[in-house]
Amino acid sequence: MSEPQDLEAMTLRLFNTLTGQLDALEPADGKALGMYACGPTVYDYGHIGNFRTFLQIDILRRFLRLSGVAVRHVMNITDVDDKIIRNSVEAGIPIGEYTRQYIEAFFEDLDALRVERPEQIARATEHIPQMVALIEKLAAAGAAYKVEDGSWYFKLAAFPAYGKLSKKDLSGMEDGARVDVDEYEKDSARDFALWKAPKPNETFWDAAIGPGRPGWHIECSAMAMEYLGESFDLHCGGEDLMFPHHENEIAQSETATHKQFARHWMHVRFLLVDGRKMSKSEGNFYTLRDLLLKGYKASAIRLALISVPYRRPLNFTFDSLTDATNAIDRLRTFQARLNAGRFLAGENPVLQEAAKSARAGYFAALANDLNTADALASIFELVRAANTAIDDEQLFTADREAILPVLEDFDAVFDVLEDRDAEPTRRALQWAEQSGRMNEVAPELIAAQSLSDTAIEALVAERTAAKKARNFARADAIRAELAEKGVILEDSKDGVRWKRK
Ligand SMILES: [Zn+2]
Repeated sequence: MSEPQDLEAMTLRLFNTLTGQLDALEPADGKALGMYACGPTVYDYGHIGNFRTFLQIDILRRFLRLSGVAVRHVMNITDVDDKIIRNSVEAGIPIGEYTRQYIEAFFEDLDALRVERPEQIARATEHIPQMVALIEKLAAAGAAYKVEDGSWYFKLAAFPAYGKLSKKDLSGMEDGARVDVDEYEKDSARDFALWKAPKPNETFWDAAIGPGRPGWHIECSAMAMEYLGESFDLHCGGEDLMFPHHENEIAQSETATHKQFARHWMHVRFLLVDGRKMSKSEGNFYTLRDLLLKGYKASAIRLALISVPYRRPLNFTFDSLTDATNAIDRLRTFQARLNAGRFLAGENPVLQEAAKSARAGYFAALANDLNTADALASIFELVRAANTAIDDEQLFTADREAILPVLEDFDAVFDVLEDRDAEPTRRALQWAEQSGRMNEVAPELIAAQSLSDTAIEALVAERTAAKKARNFARADAIRAELAEKGVILEDSKDGVRWKRK
């Protein structure tokens, strides 16, 4: 990877929800940026709205690393909450068994989308003592109280700054009014549950504060501080978590420590599908697996979900997936052309300049609040200029050497150039088969998968032999047979390349 050099001085300016402006994002300790990102609640498969958030956080960490900033990224897994307990009781299995399948599926999906793993993954059920200790600290400070059934609540009146993140007008705040569910829509704030006493048949932990289980908010406060300290650089999550979840995290943490919890807050905006809110009842609800089974490639899904900057709402459409598929094709074809082409020695000053300005534009766009759309535009400008130059035989060896590192920097963040799409699709098909969902699979996909790579290679070789023997009828028949099964052939002077549609 090329060194950032002149661009290294460029610090990422990231919108900070807390201050309401773009702030420089730098590690306070000068070493590694401590960041906490709210992870999944594992009661179901992740939908594309969830993955948009994880992908945008992936863009953030990859860009930080590309510009020379080390990161210490902590992500929680909420493996105990209201829904998990309800569903596992219904299924008649322990919560650990119930959540295991969704934790595995979540990481499989992250791998499919090429989302890098955080440095630290923290499961809520493995940090109960830290949560209990935090509740005890709040109780000692007079900010937590126990009610008759044995549950503990945070007393909002103990934290007058409540609402500073979401800037909600909380004048209707009722002292002492309580809420015991983790997610609530109401604008008026309520004392919220820190520790919930068990109902019959529910999972619980024995603790000095009484038997029970943690509320969702205390989990994140306790685990963030466990791994990043009482004060840390950045907290990320989807915008739907800003209130009440993040407000509650701040209230608990800052009341307990009297220190600022996270200095910087990043919120990824929501995703719409065809202009409407995604919901199961509207029939526009998609998991990653749904899209893979419809025949879309994982790399195209990745690009479609990252190409709109994180602070704009993303209107997801199937056209946007097709556009992403085409964009990746153009990029991969261009890279193959550069790598395989035979160029004359020398350089073209226009291309040298184009490479330099594309790289500068790319870094500047990402450093400006992670503007992925502008970053992509810079790269495509270079691709257009270089493709034209290749057509005109005006691209030389030194130009290739100038352009390839720009593509490398691009891919260090976007990660779509290498074709690793067959594996996620194969796994999704395997999953569909095991879970009785083959009726959801696109017919072209089943046809394409019915041919193994070896079978395709054999047909390609047979076609080449047929052409050599001037048996064009047979050669055309093989091409048609492959096309029907979703395999496309590309004849070039270096031989035949094939790919699955
Ligand atoms: Zn959280």
